[in-house]
Amino acid sequence: MASGTLTIDLDALVANWRALDAMTDCETAAVVKADAYGLGVGPVSRALAQAGVRTFFVALSEEGAALREALGPNAQIMVFSGHMRGDTDMIADLGLIPMLNSTAQLTRHLEALPGHPFGIQLDTGMNRLGMEPAEWEAVRDVVLPMNPVLIMSHLACADEPGHAMNAAQLALFRDMTDGISVPRSLAATGGILLGPEYHFDLTRPGIGLYGGAPFTDAGPTVTLSLPVVQTRPVAAGESVGYGNAWTADENREIATLSGGYADGLIRAMGAEAQVFDGETSCPVIGRVSMDLLTVDISHLQETPTALDILCPAQGVDDLARAAGTIGYEILTSLGGRYHRRYRGGNGT
Ligand SMILES: *Cc1c(COP(=O)(O)O)cnc(C)c1O
Repeated sequence: MASGTLTIDLDALVANWRALDAMTDCETAAVVKADAYGLGVGPVSRALAQAGVRTFFVALSEEGAALREALGPNAQIMVFSGHMRGDTDMIADLGLIPMLNSTAQLTRHLEALPGHPFGIQLDTGMNRLGMEPAEWEAVRDVVLPMNPVLIMSHLACADEPGHAMNAAQLALFRDMTDGISVPRSLAATGGILLGPEYHFDLTRPGIGLYGGAPFTDAGPTVTLSLPVVQTRPVAAGESVGYGNAWTADENREIATLSGGYADGLIRAMGAEAQVFDGETSCPVIGRVSMDLLTVDISHLQETPTALDILCPAQGVDDLARAAGTIGYEILTSLGGRYHRRYRGGNGT
């Protein structure tokens, strides 16, 4: 079997949720969009539900449908993109709660599904999703008597605690919502770490659950092990891989691993990335191919059968740094060809 093995530790995931939950006095939801950041929405959401998570967020109604199938009727499922044209049947039949982002979505929702629960997303400066202050001012007296399930906004710079944007968005969110009795939510992972004034009634962590920055105390949730397909001696002066991008300075032993950019091991990680034989690192050499990468194992005593590219010694943020990206992108890029193993989570 040449496919790599992606092991997902559901106990670590649940421990991360508990740690984030313990930092606040309010409800802690879970964001499981993009197939739970690439880790598999079924096993991830079932483990979290079993640990006590009641509210889940997804980006699209289609993701909400998959989540409803995984969780059954009791979980509260909120959809960030709101009520899009074509979503009505899914929202109605599966009991999804759209976060309405504009007057147009509000009108669509009230016309198509009067009486069906909804939330409101407000824009407090990120200018991505949500009603603008003036738009909200114009509809709030109509909306509030209908008891929205939640009013939320999203922080643009929460991973930079000293950034002035955080306080500015907090002030505007308060300005737009103080005095109303609807539950409020402002914080994702970064916002939880900013402190209690950002917590309101519900937090919405995503990346922190999966072990990524800015929640640097998170436990790692993924291990990725790549089988060695072949090894060979490469003599001084010979080169390896596309473009002859790497040339041996002396005689070397090179291993070819199964896993490449089609599996989310992006080309940009190239020269900075390493793989591990336990604690011992081996540099990735040459270019990452679609299905393969090549590493220098000259210093290993024995030829390994597999080497780890995500492991305790190199987490998602380390690999992201090597590739000039963020842990979110490494996780959500993990491809469909890996053999996936789930550990823990009470056998879910
Ligand atoms: C993705 C997302 C989250 C989760 O953010 P993390 O940084 O992964 O914790 C929360 N809220 C909204 C609106 C999002 O788009």
